[in-house]
Parts: sequence; C-alpha cells; structure tokens
Amino acid sequence: MRETEAIRKRLLDWFGEEARDLPFRRTRDPYLIWLSEIILQQTRVDQGLPYYERFVAAFPTVKALADAPEEAVLKLWEGLGYYTRARNLHAAAREIRDRHDGKLPDTARMLQMLPGVGRYTAGAVASIAFGERVPVVDGNVKRVLARLRHIADPVDDPAVEEDLWAIAEQLVPARNPGEFNQAMMELGARVCTPRQPRCDACPLAEMCAARAAGVAESLPVKRAKKEVPHREMVTAVIQRDDGAYLIGRRPPEGMLGGLWEFPGGALAPRETHQKALRRVCAEVLGVTVRVGGRVACVRHAYTHFKVTLNVFRCCIEEGEPQAKEHTELRWISPQDFGTVPFPKGNHKFLPLLAPEDELDLFGMMED
Ligand code: SF4
Repeated sequence: MRETEAIRKRLLDWFGEEARDLPFRRTRDPYLIWLSEIILQQTRVDQGLPYYERFVAAFPTVKALADAPEEAVLKLWEGLGYYTRARNLHAAAREIRDRHDGKLPDTARMLQMLPGVGRYTAGAVASIAFGERVPVVDGNVKRVLARLRHIADPVDDPAVEEDLWAIAEQLVPARNPGEFNQAMMELGARVCTPRQPRCDACPLAEMCAARAAGVAESLPVKRAKKEVPHREMVTAVIQRDDGAYLIGRRPPEGMLGGLWEFPGGALAPRETHQKALRRVCAEVLGVTVRVGGRVACVRHAYTHFKVTLNVFRCCIEEGEPQAKEHTELRWISPQDFGTVPFPKGNHKFLPLLAPEDELDLFGMMED
C-alpha cells in the first residue's frame, strides 16, 4: 500500500510540473473532454489537435454536433482515418441529445452504453470530467505498467490485458483520478516511450521492476503479427464533357462508410486492368466503358491490409450510370473536390485530375 501511495504521489507531482498545456485540459466541459478522447485515439496529439480545434469551432456543443448532417462531420474528420469513430461520435451525440437531455452520462457504466464508447473512453471521460474513480488503459498505460511490474507476457493477450486493467484499478486514487489517469498516459507518451525510455527522468524509476532488471526497452512484448494482405484494385475516372467526374457514396455500414470515392473494385486473379475496369464498371455502375490511359498507380496502407489503386480514365460507351453498390452517385467538378469527404487513397490522385489553380484544396488533407 505504501508503494501504491508513493506511485500516486510521485506521478501526480510530476504531472503537476510537466503536464503539457493542451486546450482540452483547460476545460471541465464533459462534451469537449469526450470529443478530445475520441479524436486522439490512435492519433498523436500534434496530429489530432488541429482536428479537435476544428470540431470545437464547428460544433461547440453536443447539440450542434447532433444537429449537423453526417456528411459535415465526415468532412471535418477527413484524413484522420478510422471513419467508424466519426460516425459513432455523431450517433452518440444524437443519443445524448435525444435520451439524456443533451448532457453526457456521468458514470463510466452509463457512458459505455453510447455508440463507440468503450472501456477506455468511458474511463477517461468519467474520471477526467466527473471525478469517478475508474482506471484507463491505453497503449501508453500498458507499456508503463508492463515495465513497472515487469510483465513479460504479451500485453495484447486478453488475459494479460485484464491483469493490466486490474493493476490500473488498484493504482488509481479516489482523489484526482482524472489527473492520475492523464499522468499515466503522459508518462507513457513522453518519458516511458517505446524506444529509449528516459528512465533517468522518470518519477517512478525507483519502483520500476523492468528498470531494475535492465530490460525496460525490451518490454512490452506483443504477439507475433500476421502478414498484412495486399489487394490489387482498379479505379475508374469517368469525366463528362463539362469536366465533371463521376463519384459514388459508400454505404454507411462498413469500411470508409459514408465517404465518396471514384468507382472501382478488386482485380480478379489473372485479370488485366482493362478487363477488370470493364467488369467493375458494369457491376458497380451498370455501364459499358472504354478504358483509356492510366492516371496513377497509388499505394495505400489501411490497418489490416494494403491496397494498390490502378487508376485509369474511362469513357462510358453505353448505359446511364446507376448506383448499384453505392447509396448515390453524383457528378462533381474538380473545384468542388474539397466539399465532400474522400478516402485518403483517393486523395493521392485527386490533384492529378485538374490543374492546380482549378482545385479548391480547402479541407483536403495531406497524407
Ligand atoms: S523507469 Fe523507465 S521503464 Fe520504468 S516506468 Fe520509468 S521510464 Fe518506464
């Protein structure tokens, strides 16, 4: 118990002096704290911060977010990836507006009932915004705890993960649980880093079992990764006489749901790009096309697979495009590319479709 108290005190003292001054740390507004937690998941603070600021400016209250059309939310999210998070954020805002009188539930248990709010986010919001004594375990905390307690089993093993939650639960204090949780995460982000942890500057150095054993840098251990599959795709760039391009909106469920894209599909085994494009355009748009020149060959990595997009110009020879797999189709001029959300893979070739001075790049994100 004495050690637990020492860990709490040292960590909180360190955080009091070293905490970064971040905009969401200056507020007690549960909505803004929740927003920051959703945006910063799987994203570095310096990358996520501009998104947080754009969201706060566009949707300063949970009601403003709930009332916004989904496309506006996806557009602001564009470039962050993991679009399910944006759709869940929006759905949760609507639930808070409709079922909770516009106020976030104030316990981790109730917060977890909202779409997209898991154990981590619920713990973070409940402890930081409402002072509930609940732990958080994210990637940074896992690393700190695995080193502090010298846990040599894979931290992504569900049983080990449960143990880490139990350790975190035992450590989190009744007073200032939110500060303590943030301190743990901050320590992992800035001192107990994956490579070359700065043990000399660590407030927990004296209690750290991995440091004592001289194995800090080799922890935590993870299970062996499977090889990431690769998909070869074809993408059709179809342009009308007035210069507008044909794009389709992906169904709301599933990967990249609700985003707009140039029509395309996977290459079948031993199929040429030309043959694949004719087949895909028939299946996806119900039209016959003539395949022209290649526009680009774009590589992009998602979490669970990599894709190569072989992008070709195509002309419709027969038929009127129909949304067979998209929820809707539209013709868009290059000047309007910046007004709809596209996946990152499409962003890589959009600048090739119009002279630079015709492109309105507002809102289009760099990779
Ligand atoms: S002493 Fe080193 S390994 Fe241990 S918690 Fe601190 S930074 Fe991490």
